Amino acid sequence: MSRYWSKVTASLTPYVPGEQPKDRSYVKLNTNECPYPPSPRVLAAIKEAANADLRLYPDPNGTAFKEAVARYHGLSADQVFVGNGSDELLAFAFLAFFDPDRAILFPDITYSFYKVYAGLYRIPYTCVPLDDAFRVPVEAFLAPNGGVVLPNPNAPTAQYVPLGGIREILEGNPDRVVIIDEAYIDFGGESAVPLIREYPNLLVIQTLSKSRSLAGLRTGFAMGSAELIEGLRRIKDSFNSYTLDRLALAGAAAALEDEEYFADITRRVVRTREETVRQLNRLGFQATDSKANFVFISHPDVPARNLFQELRQAGILVRYFDQPRIDNYLRVSIGTDEEMNLFLQALKSIVNK
Ligand SMILES: *Cc1c(COP(=O)(O)O)cnc(C)c1O
Repeated sequence: MSRYWSKVTASLTPYVPGEQPKDRSYVKLNTNECPYPPSPRVLAAIKEAANADLRLYPDPNGTAFKEAVARYHGLSADQVFVGNGSDELLAFAFLAFFDPDRAILFPDITYSFYKVYAGLYRIPYTCVPLDDAFRVPVEAFLAPNGGVVLPNPNAPTAQYVPLGGIREILEGNPDRVVIIDEAYIDFGGESAVPLIREYPNLLVIQTLSKSRSLAGLRTGFAMGSAELIEGLRRIKDSFNSYTLDRLALAGAAAALEDEEYFADITRRVVRTREETVRQLNRLGFQATDSKANFVFISHPDVPARNLFQELRQAGILVRYFDQPRIDNYLRVSIGTDEEMNLFLQALKSIVNK
């Protein structure tokens, strides 16, 4: 606390990112980064952009990146908005579309940043309980609300809602904005982007941090009707017109254009995930049905907290959430086959102790 803080600052509960420790080298399976490097074309584009033009401001509209997204998803440029990671896009979207006089809805177990933004903007929220298998109860999102935020697949539970369910939520909320956070959609789910044509209240947010191996570049994009995109632009230009620098814009556009590399690394992650789940089941673990680049697991005999601590001592970082309902689960990012073998070997010796 400081007497110099504003009331808002004093009242905040900020987001706590997964740790990036420097004390030793770890097998890092705790923040859902991609284990493979970005496309070589991304690195080449960034190097090429590192030139004397850095003295100039970047394109405030991120046109090249935006057009690459529009081409990839079959949209027009006015249906795309680009930003500094999906966290920034979410922060803009909450301010652009939700009001302090009506509670928004999101799942009780979900990405913890939603509560943080709601707190920052004083937007009330109601948490919709997931069912016992951590599935999203679609009907509960039809209750009166000031807007909906739903990650699909959900994090950290990894569960996916098929497009029929998303469509139901959109149909049931024609006067509210429905944000679908598709941070993990490229690992086996079907994107809601084609529904944008039918539903002007749909905003789909994607990131290059996970499936494009670019968490360090801080780039993401939002897609929706031109009126929603214009709402986001109004917020951005009341905040910071240059959210993406020249290097990020160049790298992000190149990433969207290298479809072959993207298809290859996402396929590899999915294959490793399926094999990891098979091995985990053999060790007695239960895993939710994952359509993401992580698995959500628990063991009937060994508490997750112990597993987390013992894995850490063995040099393997995973994510443990000390929260109601999920405090006996671990979220484990999918690494390379080699990393997952180290993880499974360590688990085996812990579980069989
Ligand atoms: C990782 C993640 C994000 C943030 O992605 P960035 O683009 O790196 O800011 C947003 N939503 C969910 C559900 C995530 O897991």
